[in-house]
Amino acid sequence: MPTPKYNIASIPADGIGIEVVAATIKVIEHLAQTLKTFEIEFTHFPWGSDYYKKEGRYLPDDVLDVLRKYDACLFGAVGAPDIPDHISLWGLLLALRGPMQLYANVRPVRPFPGTRVRFAESKPSDIDWVLVRENSEGEYAGQGGRSHLNQPWETATEVAIFTRIGIERIMRFAFETARSRPRKLLTVVTKSNSMRNGMVLWDEIAREVAADYPDVQWDKMLVDAMTVRMVVKPESLDTIVGTNLHMDILSDLAAALAGSIGVAPSSNLDPTRKNPSIFEPVHGSAFDITGKGIANPVATIWSAAEMLRWVGEASAADTLMTALEEVCRKGVLTPDLGGTATTESVATAVCKEIEVIA
Ligand code: ATP
Ligand code: MG
Repeated sequence: MPTPKYNIASIPADGIGIEVVAATIKVIEHLAQTLKTFEIEFTHFPWGSDYYKKEGRYLPDDVLDVLRKYDACLFGAVGAPDIPDHISLWGLLLALRGPMQLYANVRPVRPFPGTRVRFAESKPSDIDWVLVRENSEGEYAGQGGRSHLNQPWETATEVAIFTRIGIERIMRFAFETARSRPRKLLTVVTKSNSMRNGMVLWDEIAREVAADYPDVQWDKMLVDAMTVRMVVKPESLDTIVGTNLHMDILSDLAAALAGSIGVAPSSNLDPTRKNPSIFEPVHGSAFDITGKGIANPVATIWSAAEMLRWVGEASAADTLMTALEEVCRKGVLTPDLGGTATTESVATAVCKEIEVIA
């Protein structure tokens, strides 16, 4: 059988995104060379805030045609100190998520070796979650506007859009995810006591879809009560699904509870596989530490492992995760986790560990 080869679009973009993606590519290329079970080629794209300052836009017009030639995309972070966040975010990442139908944002959350669980009463084993965030609708659908500019009665609306198709597809994805995990537990997060249209539709569709998954045990939570449960009874949760806005907030809480933003990975998936999915660290461009060589590459390396799993290289992904965890367990940690390692030295240590394991 010929060795499978994957073509990956690399979009490091801004700030520490550039540093952590470079470190990750080094590790993945080393993994491929060591295992020899797959080949991988990264093609770099210069899109980001510097490109925007030169070209007046974050992405070229033919970006979708370009990216659809790749098996997946590895993304760094977008954002510059002199550009408002809503311009950079909508200019790059959100501009891709919509047209490419990357409707499932998946974030595994568990304490990583070297991080500590924040809440004193929790044990590391209490937190082992997969957060599934609806990635295409809700308050982030871009619907709304402003009128009566600069008048005292100036009005701004941010319309939360929910569609049956949009809710049903993310709900099925969440039930499938829950079914694939040992505990087969799903919690559906809404706010249907005070939002009586979209959130009630979420509740109804959850009940409908659940009928197809009798083996999955599921329950409903209001988002406010969910913040309490995540802190107080973390062990009662496994797979969690919710809207774009709610899961944006809950996933930051989850990352903080489990340890550190520097280790939190994320996948933007098109579960139909018609478009390449995008894998990226949860953290941003972090200009306070850009250029210092101390950005933690773990979140991006973990994201790349999820990417390998998605394209079909589960065993390579397992090897990579074992190596990554071992390196952190041995204390090769960047300053955000209390260590003195650099981005580069973490990557080098992971490469060495891969050789030991393989
Ligand atoms: P965004 O605008 O997307 O929130 P940001 O640039 O504010 O991005 P965050 O992801 O919010 O960055 O991170 C907040 C802070 O956490 C950063 O300023 C940085 O100090 C620290 N941080 C984030 N990611 C890392 C990392 N990979 N390694 C080390 N420190 C990090
Ligand atoms: Mg921030």
